[in-house]
Amino acid sequence: MIKTRGIKPKLVGFLANEDPASIKYAECTSKTCEETGVIFELRKCNREELEDQIIEANEDDSVHGIMVYYPVFGDLQDQYLQNVVSVTKDVEGLCQICNSDQNIPYLDEEQIKNYIIPCTPLAIIKVLEYIRVYNSVLLYGNRLHGCVITIINRSEIVGRPLAVLLANEGGKVYSVDINNIQEIHHGTELKLKKYEVRITNLKLEEILPISDVVITGVPTPSYKVPTALLREGVIAINFSAFKNFEDNIKEKASIYVPTIGKITITMLERNLLKLYDRQLSLKNEE
Ligand code: NAD
Repeated sequence: MIKTRGIKPKLVGFLANEDPASIKYAECTSKTCEETGVIFELRKCNREELEDQIIEANEDDSVHGIMVYYPVFGDLQDQYLQNVVSVTKDVEGLCQICNSDQNIPYLDEEQIKNYIIPCTPLAIIKVLEYIRVYNSVLLYGNRLHGCVITIINRSEIVGRPLAVLLANEGGKVYSVDINNIQEIHHGTELKLKKYEVRITNLKLEEILPISDVVITGVPTPSYKVPTALLREGVIAINFSAFKNFEDNIKEKASIYVPTIGKITITMLERNLLKLYDRQLSLKNEE
């Protein structure tokens, strides 16, 4: 697509940590970009220099997309950095998450054109669409009606935005983190425009057996979802760098997706192209 159009979009990735998963992600991004005709520049820096470097890239017309490998500080300062990236260059769609008050709209055709959806949640959604978890007979906003989804991760960059996106499509989502379990849904009567969140007293042992889809992203090698608790035919998706499902998962799961990294990079390039085209049309308007 990029090669056939004869364009050369440039993506800059900022690496300000020593996290092995980030380093691997950067290497894979570099390889895919080379294969597909995207110019990828990895800029390594100290985390204290990062803000200035992002601002410099924001102002550089030759840069079409910017991404930062998180965690950088591992606290609220990372959310601040997400908003330093210009909305016109934010390939990961992370600054819009904060700005949009965490309410990401339905993924109908018009919204797809307007929004940059965060890459990993978008990659997981593409998998769910491909394997027909989304019911295309139903209207946008209801395509996951009747589907129960458990997401074990509530990080700002993956678990929480993914939970909101799935709830806004009508799914009943259990969002699990280290502290509690939230139930997120958009109403029983298909009427609510915005999702609702409440803390549930249900335990993981109670929600796993009723979940049609279980998505995991716990960043520890020892964490395992007990296969015995899962329902027969469950769809199991792991995006953690570690295997969060037990070795016997295929005995229960109808579909098991062990990793999502390659699809994420494809979504990264998809978002980059969108930003490139937007910048081009803005230039043409000047
Ligand atoms: P994070 O540390 O920001 O978040 C981890 C989440 O897991 C938190 O919500 C935490 O509360 C929850 N958690 C931790 N232990 C738990 C437990 N015992 N029970 C329930 N919840 C628990 O991490 P992150 O940035 O979201 O990344 C998570 C993992 O996903 C990492 O391994 C990372 O490398 C990987 N990752 C992969 C991709 C990709 O492949 N596209 C993208 C981003 C992150």
